[in-house]
Amino acid sequence: MKHTITLIPGDGIGLEVTSAVQKVIAATKVAIDWEIVNGGEEAYKATGKFIPDALLESISKNKIAFKGPITTPIGTGFKSINVTLRQKYNTYANVRPVKTIPGIKTPFENVDLVIVRENSEDLYKGIEHLVTDGVAEAIKVITEKASTKIGEYAFEYAKKYNRKKVTAVHKANIMKISDGLFLESIRKVAEKYPEIEYEEVIVDNMCMQLVMYPENYDVLVLPNLYGDIVSDLAAGLVGGLGLVPGANIGEDIAIFEAVHGSAPTIAGKNIANPTACILSAAMMLDYIGETSAATLVREAVAAVIKEGKATTQDIGGTATTEAITEAICNYITSAK
Ligand code: ATP
Ligand code: MG
Repeated sequence: MKHTITLIPGDGIGLEVTSAVQKVIAATKVAIDWEIVNGGEEAYKATGKFIPDALLESISKNKIAFKGPITTPIGTGFKSINVTLRQKYNTYANVRPVKTIPGIKTPFENVDLVIVRENSEDLYKGIEHLVTDGVAEAIKVITEKASTKIGEYAFEYAKKYNRKKVTAVHKANIMKISDGLFLESIRKVAEKYPEIEYEEVIVDNMCMQLVMYPENYDVLVLPNLYGDIVSDLAAGLVGGLGLVPGANIGEDIAIFEAVHGSAPTIAGKNIANPTACILSAAMMLDYIGETSAATLVREAVAAVIKEGKATTQDIGGTATTEAITEAICNYITSAK
């Protein structure tokens, strides 16, 4: 079956890393028709809109998108484009597997975490205002509905992939009502899964635990903001942002994207690591049922990194974005 998928190149390193994805998918021979529609700064220059109507129409129609990183101008007047897309399509779960990749030097060897980040509310609602000169206020929204939904997603994920434990991360000792509601909702879900271990850890302690004993954790479920921060921290445990993939999952729409942003300081130099995007593409292949291609892509990434001849600077090598991509494609082609 041919799949039509929206491709959003995005800003900064976006074009380089999404081109890598197109090449890798071509090597797998999975029939994907990319509908390329940009969003972000590049789109703004061309159309005067950060999120052109054509982009929204394309995602609504295809239901699946692969997204490069998009820059949102800092300052008032612009709501984050990433957040807008997540809210518009209600991709309520942001899933980020963080796993040790043999061949990359890090202080840990057995990291295998899955971060399940609530993706629709919390401080990301963007409700903030100046109360008076010199005083600003932001509103944190936590609902039972969204918390239960993300809890269910986390436990169903754990069940499906044979994971042993779900850890809810919170700050309910301080935000007793909002984070309290988050915890209470997750706890109710946990009761329905007696076969899966459940625990609760306060977010500051979680950060320390993760940088000391990451191997003790399995699936983490977090409200939006803690999920954002802990994701980058977790990426650091396995070798950095160049490696960690992600998926935004909704009822019937999914948008795949790496954890990293547009990394403007390294953009256009052919040195960005495309691995995070390529592994996000593997998640997309799983999602559309192309599981053997997904496995092959992961195998190719692992083999190329382990061999270490064509790795990018961020993971200790000297290869270009194009060179590592070519090595991954060659592995796939010769394995087929
Ligand atoms: P944004 O505002 O879009 O998030 P940023 O400057 O925060 O942009 P990130 O992409 O979040 O950039 O990354 C932070 C740093 O991590 C980058 O400056 C870069 O050094 C590194 N990094 C991120 N992604 C990659 C990648 N794919 N390859 C190599 N290094 C990366
Ligand atoms: Mg960033």
